[in-house]
Amino acid sequence: MSDLLTSDRLPGLIQAGYIVAAICFIAALAGLSKHETAKRGNIAGMVGMGIALLATFALAARNAELGDGRALGVTLAIILVAMAVGAVIGAWRARTVEMTGMPELIAMLHSFVGLAAVLVGFNSYLEHGPGHGSLGTIHDVEVYLGVFIGAVTFTGSIVANLKLSAKMKSAPLTLPGRHLLNLAVLLVSAGLAVWFVADESLLDGGDLGTGIVPLVAMTVLALFLGFHLVAAIGGGDMPVVVSMLNSYSGWAAAAAGFMLGNDLLIVTGALVGSSGAILSYIMCKAMNRSFVSVIAGGFGQEAPVSDDTDYGEHREITAADAADLLAHAGSVVITPGYGMAVAQAQYPVADLTAKLRARGVTVRFGIHPVAGRLPGHMNVLLAEAKVPYDIVLEMDEINGDLPETDVVLVIGANDTVNPAAAEDPTSPIAGMPVLEVWNAREVIVFKRSMATGYAGVQNPLFFRDNTSMLFGDAKAKVEEIIHDLPE
Ligand code: NDP
Repeated sequence: MSDLLTSDRLPGLIQAGYIVAAICFIAALAGLSKHETAKRGNIAGMVGMGIALLATFALAARNAELGDGRALGVTLAIILVAMAVGAVIGAWRARTVEMTGMPELIAMLHSFVGLAAVLVGFNSYLEHGPGHGSLGTIHDVEVYLGVFIGAVTFTGSIVANLKLSAKMKSAPLTLPGRHLLNLAVLLVSAGLAVWFVADESLLDGGDLGTGIVPLVAMTVLALFLGFHLVAAIGGGDMPVVVSMLNSYSGWAAAAAGFMLGNDLLIVTGALVGSSGAILSYIMCKAMNRSFVSVIAGGFGQEAPVSDDTDYGEHREITAADAADLLAHAGSVVITPGYGMAVAQAQYPVADLTAKLRARGVTVRFGIHPVAGRLPGHMNVLLAEAKVPYDIVLEMDEINGDLPETDVVLVIGANDTVNPAAAEDPTSPIAGMPVLEVWNAREVIVFKRSMATGYAGVQNPLFFRDNTSMLFGDAKAKVEEIIHDLPE
């Protein structure tokens, strides 16, 4: 065992393990880009992570064997205990989390990556002290940037978690002069970076050196910046924030990789960072927002919870009448939203779909890119309920067919089917492309009340002549419809 750990060939094997793991992660991303290959993608990711853990384990064991000051047994015990604690908590959370709680869980996980980057940065500084020469300067910059990105990601993700779990108001926090405040924080942080990199004080015998002062000051500022940036982003812009923090967590991990000299962490961080950035760009396009304006924040405006406009009366429909309408329809489009996730209505929805198709009705799904509370939220739910992939279409693919559709079932969606986005330039969601369900012959909206959606904007769809409201829990109502479908 000892021979193996001290062998000259082990570092090469570890590097090879890292390369295989990195390839597995790339295969995972490629697989996850399509429904059909998503399972394979997940398996590739798990295999990659397994190899990465083994390689890291071997590296730590080798360092201990070569005498890094800690006994091999102690090193292995520390890693195993940390892994066991992480695995127990991870498995427990993954098993118990509801699909509706997924977005805030992911935001929380991003905050851990941020915190890890901050801790690695401080550890790196305390272990090696300020760098000397050009290589030292590069190391100082890595530490500084890693801590900065990590701290912004940490508090930003905590605020996102609180907003997504409704523990904090989703409306943007618009402090006076907020852009100037952000700019000032950035400029002061840049000044502190110069001080930190120029500092050459030695750390010995418990002395932290003067470099710790700019590092701690910048950390406090970055923690505030993360909080302020995300708190200033409101309502409908949250999807971009979630994907943006995903990207930041990747860059934070890459920065930690540079500090630790770990190639795999650099590659993995870059993969997460760039895929998160691409996703943010796609989400911005879906919301018709510019990336910069979302990041600068405060564009969700104080979304009015109610306004004085008289929208007229809404019409209600019973489950039995809805069943009758569906049984006689030629084509049906289902547009699910966050309420389907809350109600866990995907299973009866899949059942209803199968029953209608068996009767010869054409049933398709129209998915808005920001429906739900997580990119791809609806696709995951429908896949879970085994809805065939080929009838699940994107918003752009289905919008043109809606005027020829007999019945649209809006199941727990609200903002993503709001005509005000297309027709009212003063609406807080004006300009956001939406599913144009009002063009269909009949629209049935499943929800429990006349309450607004995530963006807090009233929805004129509910008052249209061709819209009927089916009030109640979406799962219960779909089950009633299945029960009432004529033979
Ligand atoms: P919305 O959040 O606009 O509306 C959901 C609707 O579901 C509510 O109006 C609610 O009405 C209804 N509902 C809730 N529970 C139930 C239930 N048990 N049964 C029936 N209906 C129910 O949903 P959309 O999916 O249309 O829009 C998503 C919104 O979330 C957008 O504003 C988007 O920007 C935002 N967002 C999206 C993220 C993403 O990544 N996809 C991330 C963060 C935010 P009622 O209470 O009356 O039942």
